[in-house]
Amino acid sequence: MPNIVYDVKLDFKDVLLRPKRSTLRSRADVDLYREITFRNSGATYRGVPVIASNMDTVGTFEMAKTLAQHGCFTCMHKFYSVEEWMNFAKENPEAMQYVAASSGTSDGDFERLKSILDNVPQVSFVCLDVANGYSEHFVTYVRKVRAEFPKITIMAGNVVTGEMVEELIMSGADIIKVGIGPGSVCTTRKKTGVGYPQLSAVIECADAAHGLGGHIISDGGCTCPGDVAKAFGAGADFVMMGGMLAGHDQSGGEIMEKNGRKVKLFYGMSSATAMQKHVGGVAEYRASEGKTVEVPYRGDVNATMLDVLGGLRSACTYVGAGKLKEMSKRTTFIRVTQQLNEVFSGGETSTAVHSVQTVQSVHNGYHQQQGGGVKRKLE
Ligand code: 5GP
Repeated sequence: MPNIVYDVKLDFKDVLLRPKRSTLRSRADVDLYREITFRNSGATYRGVPVIASNMDTVGTFEMAKTLAQHGCFTCMHKFYSVEEWMNFAKENPEAMQYVAASSGTSDGDFERLKSILDNVPQVSFVCLDVANGYSEHFVTYVRKVRAEFPKITIMAGNVVTGEMVEELIMSGADIIKVGIGPGSVCTTRKKTGVGYPQLSAVIECADAAHGLGGHIISDGGCTCPGDVAKAFGAGADFVMMGGMLAGHDQSGGEIMEKNGRKVKLFYGMSSATAMQKHVGGVAEYRASEGKTVEVPYRGDVNATMLDVLGGLRSACTYVGAGKLKEMSKRTTFIRVTQQLNEVFSGGETSTAVHSVQTVQSVHNGYHQQQGGGVKRKLE
């Protein structure tokens, strides 16, 4: 007989952060930098723990250069050659503390990762990334990378439950990537019925990781700066974003012109588009579990980062956290049934992923959005 868990599990949209009395005068008083010593590598990191995802449209060298100026991190997509890595490291020594090299679990992936780590000693983080972090094969791979590179800080995932977080940490991973199904271009929940509401996954996985001296990344599902704040409030040590960083100058891909508007292509790493590009097609035995969408061209990612980090500072001020590290201790979530007033939604576009839209017009003196604010789906 199947088990049913009757506890309600929550997403970012189901809660708000409750404001608390505070002695902070302004958001400029908030320190977003964290210093973390990792459990297995023993390495110490200092930075603003916001991460660009290792998707090939987001985890680019250009993104890393810009995010590093904010103290933020980039997990590079796994398709850069060793030569490209060597050039980047030579030209951007200051950004190297904020980048990770990514890898899947095939023998080819391991060889490529090894040659990057052997030839580019400035790389001190790796991101071992599979859609399903529950396989024995993945655990074996994490052990293999740990045995070969004892001093490298290992990010590994994705999983959504405490017992698997513990297993990966005890197998040598330092930071566990949490999230199955919440991503903006992810179709796993639709194709497989598998997933876990992201806020609850983060709360439960952070508890498991912190109990062992490990750390977690909340990966996927952030649609606006407020969601990033909620993820930190839930106990995430790092928050990873894909869709919120898509469509910028620093994102991969060309700017295209569609119906007089500039757009860029954004797609999941297991979408038909990505598989076509990198492995020549979708294998018969697996379904594509990612979408391809067109997002409006959004210019320089600096403006988006300022919006995200400004929102985060402000959230810390509201809950009375002088440092980002204190945020989860100061957090009380309120369960809500509605969190945004949508009467004039679309007037402000800034960093919201849901602001991918078609036409804006001025009507009765107010900016109104036409087209429902939804992404145009291509497949
Ligand atoms: P977002 O910030 O766009 O909501 O989520 C980004 C995350 O979605 C990525 O970091 C990654 O974990 C996940 N993701 C990226 N591509 C795919 C895909 O093709 N399928 C699935 N299931 N998840 C994806």
